[in-house]
Amino acid sequence: MQIPVATMRTRRTRLTDRWGRVATDLRVSLTDRCNLRCSYCMPAEGLAWMPTPEVLTDDEVVRLVRLAVERLGVREVRFTGGEPLLRRGLEAIVAATAGMRTEAGTAPDISLTTNGLGLDRRAVGLANAGLSRVNVSLDSLDRAQYAALTRRDRLPDVLAGVRAAIDAGLQPVKLNTVIMRGVNEDQAVRLLEWAVERGLELRFIEQMPLGPRHTWDRSEMVTAEEILALLSTRFRLDPLPSAERAGSPAEVWSVRGTSVRVGVIGAVTRPFCAACDRTRLTCDGQVRSCLFSQHETDLRGALRAGASDDELVAAWCTAMGDKAAGHGIDEPGFDQPERTMSGIGG
Ligand code: SAM
Ligand code: SF4
Repeated sequence: MQIPVATMRTRRTRLTDRWGRVATDLRVSLTDRCNLRCSYCMPAEGLAWMPTPEVLTDDEVVRLVRLAVERLGVREVRFTGGEPLLRRGLEAIVAATAGMRTEAGTAPDISLTTNGLGLDRRAVGLANAGLSRVNVSLDSLDRAQYAALTRRDRLPDVLAGVRAAIDAGLQPVKLNTVIMRGVNEDQAVRLLEWAVERGLELRFIEQMPLGPRHTWDRSEMVTAEEILALLSTRFRLDPLPSAERAGSPAEVWSVRGTSVRVGVIGAVTRPFCAACDRTRLTCDGQVRSCLFSQHETDLRGALRAGASDDELVAAWCTAMGDKAAGHGIDEPGFDQPERTMSGIGG
C-alpha cells in the first residue's frame, strides 16, 4: 500500500536502541568555541576551532531540532557547546524551538548550559525567547582559584550572569561544578553554602576523560563518594526518592533544613548508561549516541546534499539504534574519543 506523502511527513517514530532505551533528551552543541580554558576541558592554547562553513547555520540547526521534536519523540532540548552564548543566533534558535510541538502538543523543555559569561546581558532576551532554565558552570568562588582553573579572570562576570538568570526568572538556575584533587576541593562545601543562601540547585560532576588527552587519571579523580564525604562535614543530606529523579543522571539529595537540592553525577564511578535517554548533535551536524562514542553520523552532509526529512529521520534512527550499552571507561580497551567535551557538547 502506498502511504500518502502528507501522512509520511507527520509520521512519528522513536529513537530506540537495541537495548530498549529511548532517547527523548537532545543535547545540541551550537559552537565548539569558548572564551574560557577550563583545564579539565581544553588546553591553555585552545583548540583548532571548526571553520565557520562547517558549522550548521541557524536554519539547519532549527530544521534538525524540529525533526527531533516533531518526528522523533524528543521532549527536552538543551543548548550547549563550547560556549553557546558565543552563538549570535542563540535567541532566534531558542525562539524557533519554543514554537515546536512535542507529541504531547506542548513546547519542548528548553535549557542552556553555559559558563555564564555575558549572561547578564542576555538572560532577559533568552527568557523572552522561550528558554525555561539554565545551568551555569562554576567551579570556584575564589577569584584567584577560578582564574587559575579557567585560565581567565572572569569570576565577577559569571556571578553577574547567575544573578541576571535568577532575576529573569529562568527557573531553576542550577550550578554545575567539577571538583579536582588538589585544585578546588575546598569549594565543595563553600559552593553548597553559597547555593543554599540563594536557593540554587548545585550539581557536582565527576571529571570524565573528555578533556585534553593524557590529563585524566582515574586514580586521581575526585569520586562521587568523596564529594559526598566532603559535603557531609557541613550538611545533612537526605536522599530523594528515585521517582523524583525523573531519568536524571544525577543522584539527588535534599539539604536538610533548606529547600535546596544537591546532585552528584557519578558518570565514572556510578554510571547511569542503562537509563540514558540522550542523543547528541554536534555543531557540525554529527549525531553522537553517547559522549564516549567512537562513531558519528553525518546529518550535515546528508542535509546539504538535499536529503528529505524522512531520510534525515531514518539516518538519526539508525545512528541511535547502534548505541553501545555503556561508556566503557572501565573496560581494558577504552579509548578516549577524538572530540573533546567542548567539541561534543557537554
Ligand atoms: N561552556 C559551557 C559550560 O561550561 O557550561 C557549556 C559546555 S561545557 C563542555 C558543559 C559542562 O561540561 C560544564 O558544566 C563543564 O564543567 C562540563 N565538563 C567539561 N569537561 C568536563 C570533563 N572532562 N569532565 C566532566 N565535566 C566536564
Ligand atoms: Fe569552555 Fe565550558 Fe569547556 Fe570551560 S567547560 S572550557 S567554559 S566549554
